[in-house]
Amino acid sequence: MVAPLRGIGLRAFAGQEQLTADEARDAPVRSYPRPSVLAEPLALRGKPGEALEALGIRTHGDLLEHFPREHRERDARAVAELGPGEWGTVAVEIRSISRKPTRNRRRTRVEARVADASGPMVAVWWNQPWLADRLGPGSQVLLHGQRKDRNQFWVKEFEELGGDAAAAPGIGHVPLYPASEGITAQRLRQLVWDDYPRMRHTTEPLPAALRAAEGLPDRPATLAALHFPDDEAEEVAARRRLAFEELLLLQLAVAGRRRARRETRRATRLDPTGELVGPWARSLPFELTGDQRTAAGRLDFELASERPMQRLLMGEVGSGKTVVALHAMLRALENGRQAAFMAPTETLAEQHLLTLDRLLGGLAAIELLTGSTGAARRRDLLGRLASGELGLVVGTHALIEEAVEFRSLAVTVIDEQHRFGVRQRAALDRKAPEGLTPHALHMTATPIPRTLSLTAYGDLDTTVLRELPRGRRPVETHVVDGERARKRAYQRIREEIDDGRQCFVVCPLVEESEALQARAATAEYERLRASEFREQRVELIHGQLPSAEKQRAMKAFAAGAADVLVATSVIEVGIDVPNATVMLIEAAERYGLSQLHQLRGRVGRGGHASLCILFGDPKLPRLEAIAGESDGFRLAEVDLELRGAGEILGTRQHGMPEFRVARLPDDHELLERAKARADELLGRDPALDQPENALLRDAIVVRFGPELDPIPA
Ligand code: ADP
Ligand code: MG
Repeated sequence: MVAPLRGIGLRAFAGQEQLTADEARDAPVRSYPRPSVLAEPLALRGKPGEALEALGIRTHGDLLEHFPREHRERDARAVAELGPGEWGTVAVEIRSISRKPTRNRRRTRVEARVADASGPMVAVWWNQPWLADRLGPGSQVLLHGQRKDRNQFWVKEFEELGGDAAAAPGIGHVPLYPASEGITAQRLRQLVWDDYPRMRHTTEPLPAALRAAEGLPDRPATLAALHFPDDEAEEVAARRRLAFEELLLLQLAVAGRRRARRETRRATRLDPTGELVGPWARSLPFELTGDQRTAAGRLDFELASERPMQRLLMGEVGSGKTVVALHAMLRALENGRQAAFMAPTETLAEQHLLTLDRLLGGLAAIELLTGSTGAARRRDLLGRLASGELGLVVGTHALIEEAVEFRSLAVTVIDEQHRFGVRQRAALDRKAPEGLTPHALHMTATPIPRTLSLTAYGDLDTTVLRELPRGRRPVETHVVDGERARKRAYQRIREEIDDGRQCFVVCPLVEESEALQARAATAEYERLRASEFREQRVELIHGQLPSAEKQRAMKAFAAGAADVLVATSVIEVGIDVPNATVMLIEAAERYGLSQLHQLRGRVGRGGHASLCILFGDPKLPRLEAIAGESDGFRLAEVDLELRGAGEILGTRQHGMPEFRVARLPDDHELLERAKARADELLGRDPALDQPENALLRDAIVVRFGPELDPIPA
């Protein structure tokens, strides 16, 4: 009989005897993963150690998370089997090796007599003279290269085979690692191979049930298969599992943030009072489109809640986002609160002021605050914002400066939201009264394909304006190349002008500096004024002009006092001149697809048929796409295919994490699955604090930190 006092209910494996607490603690635990094993530093000295540091590899764990760029199928062929001209890999022994003179002094040549069981040949290395000393007779080497005439084999890549059992496999499905100066891919492969036994200590963040449901291998097996797969199928399965993991972690992180914001912050309820918004809507000179009405209804619903609204309003240029934004702003005013509209540039802010002012029709005051606002005026404005006397303001970053105070900011509108950083948007949030967060409406004229919005925004509440206001027409688009076509284009433009229409000329994008871009625009302005448009009225606008000068040019063009506006891409958004019917873009290939689409959206806004002329190579896929497609959303999909996700959102600035394994848009199906699983997990365990999700939550923090914002910068 076992004394009950002795036992704590534990027995040794396959034993009868119960263990004491001390015995249980000291008993060997055989297969439990110990993450600390991976945290141990990789003590590698000298150059290779520095090279690893530079790659961000300090610990064994870092090394195992340094994934191969790709794998190469390497079947060793028999020397005798390789015909002249063929590429292949052979495993051979070196019989003798020496440097050979070449006619060209700058080239060096090392030759080795090598052989495998099937026969001998001569291996040749170019420009690596030191190899003659390093590879002595008797070395076993793997050579990859091309068989030439006269029994020669030109080596492209090679590696030494250690000949012992601990050497990493160099044949089969071989991993190629992103290497760097100071460490070879082969050395990296060997290090990872040496660490193979440590792989089982990797932490499994995915709950078992989820893994089972998705049919995913566990993480240790995944690491093993990712580094040293038996074949391509294994590698693909491993990548898939890791891509899923990355996407799931991201979805959980973003959703968690959004939830935290919704639940921990409070906004002012803005209920319809019927005093302002209704009469204003009835006073508009046009009917709202169906999409605009739906959007306004949605906003009203969210504004009438204490949960801060966080909505992305997506709509093409001219789809009427400003009207919808003003609807929300007036809801604030109607409730005795304030609203601010922030745009990324002065030109845009000025344009928005004009549009908003016109839409308001004198119903309420709205003012402009930018970096160029004069000191006296600024003082007056700040006073009226702080007292609450001024309810509506539109401006640039100037709005978030320390000195700007609002009495009761309740609604913010952020135009071209991707051009602001997380901090800048947070600064605007902080202008609300203590303890409150404003309702935020983010706007973008760049349609974002679902794949991207899911990734970057975690499916942020999105409203889309697809329907263009009545009277908008598709813009006929031509890509033209060559002098004759150019002459014809100018002729066509002069005809439009003779008919009373107006034309934009957009100069080549100069990425290097605004000053260069301004100079290019000025030169083109001078040229056109003296030649093609000698008899027309030409104005110039670019980012380096003083604000007053910009305004003057813009006003002149808007009022029809100029026929041609030569501009840089500053006119990309915001300008609204319905009488302009031609958009001419120089060096169109320098612009991105979405920019071209934006620019084209500047015309076709009135009742007249409009034209977009792109100077560039008609065979360029981007230009072909824009000429053949007028739907911004479909163009965005094309753009995504042409460029890949990282490029489009410009990973860094947009706060979109770089994926190590996942590839968008290719992995969009995995993304959708990850999103569905994330929703499911959070539905059952909103804060991920159930024990089975604890490691998942840890992994999110490690990967993304606690700082992830729901709307990327
Ligand atoms: P966006 O900001 O989406 O580019 P805007 O809100 O500036 O578009 O609207 C573009 C132009 O269309 C403005 O002149 C605006 O007054 C007009 N507009 C907006 N909605 C309608 C509508 N439903 N019907 C007719 N015109 C409209
Ligand atoms: Mg607008």
